[in-house]
Amino acid sequence: MNAQTNSTQLAVVGGGPGGYAAAFFAADLGLQVTLIDLEPQPGGVCLYRGCIPSKALLHVAKVLSEARHASQWGITFSDPQIDLDKLRSWKNNVVQKLTSGLGQLSKQRKITFIQGRAYFVDARTLRIQKESGEEEHLAFEHAILATGSRPAILPSLSLDSPRVLDSTGALELPDIPHTMLVVGGGYIGLELGTVYAALGTKVSVVEMTPGLLPGVDRDLVSVLARRMEKICQAIMLNTTVVEMKEEQNGIRVRFEGSEVQEAEQVFDKVLVAVGRKPNSNDLGLENTRVELDARGFVKVNAQRQTTEPGIYAIGDVCGEPMLAHKASHEGRVAVEALSGRKVAFQPQAIPAVVFTDPEIAWCGLTETQAKQENRSIQVARFPWGASGRATTLDGNEGVTKLVIDPESERILGVGIVGSGAGELIAEGVLAVEMAALASDISLTIHPHPTLSETLMEAADVFLGHSTHLYRPKRN
Ligand code: NAD
Repeated sequence: MNAQTNSTQLAVVGGGPGGYAAAFFAADLGLQVTLIDLEPQPGGVCLYRGCIPSKALLHVAKVLSEARHASQWGITFSDPQIDLDKLRSWKNNVVQKLTSGLGQLSKQRKITFIQGRAYFVDARTLRIQKESGEEEHLAFEHAILATGSRPAILPSLSLDSPRVLDSTGALELPDIPHTMLVVGGGYIGLELGTVYAALGTKVSVVEMTPGLLPGVDRDLVSVLARRMEKICQAIMLNTTVVEMKEEQNGIRVRFEGSEVQEAEQVFDKVLVAVGRKPNSNDLGLENTRVELDARGFVKVNAQRQTTEPGIYAIGDVCGEPMLAHKASHEGRVAVEALSGRKVAFQPQAIPAVVFTDPEIAWCGLTETQAKQENRSIQVARFPWGASGRATTLDGNEGVTKLVIDPESERILGVGIVGSGAGELIAEGVLAVEMAALASDISLTIHPHPTLSETLMEAADVFLGHSTHLYRPKRN
């Protein structure tokens, strides 16, 4: 069969939040765009089996946990009944609604969307194996690679069993197991561990480093860790899984580490979430001059251009942090660059949010980083015990902190743990990007009573006059 040959100004390979944002923006700038993805609609891992379904389930987890806690406020609900089929279909509907919306937005912009697998035949041509079985050759002027990442698999953790899940399998919500081991105390492990614990599973978490969420400031993590200890059966730190075997009743797991109490345990299900790796293989990149680094990430410059000038790369495939919003922003930079504009990817702050209960969010310089780089900083902390709004939400355990340059008084970073931290961090990102001073935040009138006031009060702590926190002056 002769493959059809078409041409396009811009081919975008991968329709996640990097790829579709780039394709939409390019079409808005007047480029002729073809977007290729394996799924029937744009959306990628984020919408189909990542951010969106997990947040839908985390919302349910929060409702369940609040309903259980409400007796403390004088309201007692009967034990929640979980209709798993209905819950699953609600989550699937959320995904369907958003992905079909993206499909429409793509059509309205006259983007050619192709469902299929793309492969670089050379630096100017893609071969696309379409879902329909047909093959197409697509000649392009520019291409943007936005193929994302996939769960990393470790040899000791690879067991072909329906009882061993990755994040995709866990989000499908096949059942509510009695027990579950979560391997990896990072973003995915803690978010999905929270979901399953709320649904009634006895969740144990095993993390090989000395603490949950390695790399994140400890004062923020400790608040979440206390909560995780309450909702989980066990949190095993400094521990690794050395072997997993399937038995009739579950997966027998052998642990090793300094804090191991029971060297072997059996779990109904095991969720493996030990990081992700870039989808940079099987794309025919060897037929181009695109280079990869030692970890398989595509090498790019500040314009997100690869070592093959006509090909750009954005999102998880070109490096950390593997976050949807970083990918979308890179997509915009790449499109502007290939359109001839003078741009660079130079964010001062990329926010990170862990959507647990409580949430953790940070941006810009962290205390941990400042210590590693030996930078002189001053940290202003506002504990939510002194926040009226946090008290009304029964969420006094939260903390908002500002990392400040002591000389210029510029805000270099922000860290928040507490309810809604993921929403609150946006103000911090703006402050860091706009080079705001502590006095700028302090002099900005924040609405009362809200958690956003904790940012203003943290700035006031730095300036020595927080209204709701009395700190006697030292003589
Ligand atoms: P992660 O890097 O966040 O966490 C992996 C954890 O597994 C680490 O704490 C690591 O120390 C631990 N680990 C590694 N090997 C282990 C072993 N053998 N035994 C025990 N522990 C082990 O990775 P993730 O949770 O898989 O998530 C992958 C990426 O996806 C994240 O880095 C993030 O960029 C992205 N993500 C983001 C969000 C969000 O923005 N809210 C949510 C989910 C995923």
